[in-house]
Amino acid sequence: MSLIVQKYGGTSVGTIERIQAVAEKVQAFRNRGDSVVVVVSAMSGETNRLIGLAREIEAEPSAREMDVLVSTGEQVTIALLTIALHKLGCDARSYTGGQVRILTDDAHSKARIQEIDAHRMQQDLSAGRVVVVAGFQGVDDNGNITTLGRGGSDTTAVALAAALKADECQIYTDVDGVYTTDPRVVANARRLDRITFEEMLEMASQGSKVLQIRSVEFAGKYKVPLRVLSSFEDGPGTLITLEDDDDMEKPVVSGIAFNRDEAKLTIRGIPDVPGIASKVLGAVGRANIEVDVIVQNVAHDNTASLTFTVHRNELVKARDILERIAAELGATQVDTNASIAKLALVGVGMRSHAGVAAKMFEALAQENINIQMISTSEIKITVVIDEKYLELAVRALHSAFELEESDREE
Ligand code: ASP
Ligand code: MG
Repeated sequence: MSLIVQKYGGTSVGTIERIQAVAEKVQAFRNRGDSVVVVVSAMSGETNRLIGLAREIEAEPSAREMDVLVSTGEQVTIALLTIALHKLGCDARSYTGGQVRILTDDAHSKARIQEIDAHRMQQDLSAGRVVVVAGFQGVDDNGNITTLGRGGSDTTAVALAAALKADECQIYTDVDGVYTTDPRVVANARRLDRITFEEMLEMASQGSKVLQIRSVEFAGKYKVPLRVLSSFEDGPGTLITLEDDDDMEKPVVSGIAFNRDEAKLTIRGIPDVPGIASKVLGAVGRANIEVDVIVQNVAHDNTASLTFTVHRNELVKARDILERIAAELGATQVDTNASIAKLALVGVGMRSHAGVAAKMFEALAQENINIQMISTSEIKITVVIDEKYLELAVRALHSAFELEESDREE
């Protein structure tokens, strides 16, 4: 008998039939003797619909009122699911985030959880009840309703699992796990049985949008075993867990993440003296533009060039800043390129294996794909390439690192 926190996302509770199917699933766990806390999202599309209603009145509505508004989506699904559980003869109670005392700071629309009072949930669980909690929402010190950011129900689930010291936090969604790469690009991408928190963070921040990134950070920090599974078919899903030194089979590369949302900027002919990178990137940072991959080159004439990537939406803003600085520094040129893509090999096994980068570059060379930028961390090698070749590159690397094989080597 274990204590499980389950989270069902918007598509899993998108219709009355699906809510009833979730109720049956929850009851099956109860019948096995498990204690279950269920976190639900709003029915799919509902949060966007509510935001749309407010925007019909006002382009920038008050953040406090937006939280009051969007939190209603989850309040509908907790009640409907609990009614469906009752109908099956399963004792259950629903609670809003505020009612189970998910205490947050007061940063409306992006609040952070500070404390959870697990007491009331524990009482219900001891009485044999299923506890159904609204995801995505909490309450601040003054009793104001807050929300945790889009996709925040994942974080609610992990936070409850941490507070209750649950045996597992299960995230039910419309995919059956985390894949070696996007199956829409590589048809024989493989579902991973396990992945570490660190790898998952890298995969998530590179665009695999299975889980809200914050929920993975939270799970890693509190060591909550996290499992991603399908709410529509049975299967083991993917377990996101700590790195196990002994028996966890460690593939060198676990997955390939990529994204097309970036753009590249280059400033050329700047003086090669101390303080220049800080001057250029400082100005970009002060405009709240996040910079990702950075490369600097020094030419024979002692001038330097600096290339970096930003989110594509920020390209124009970043270019304007760069042009202003170019004038100040007497730079010769500012170039931009929006048709790039970023691709990363991710794997904790890289720590103990040499030659991964060489193998990666060779696979790209064989396809005649030019690498524009390279950056590495302990468990990741990132390259920036022409967007045109992204899918080709992902497929070439997927096969070069034999990610489709079911028996892993090394
Ligand atoms: N309903 C919220 C959203 O659409 C939270 C969630 O689904 O996790 O972002
Ligand atoms: Mg989601």
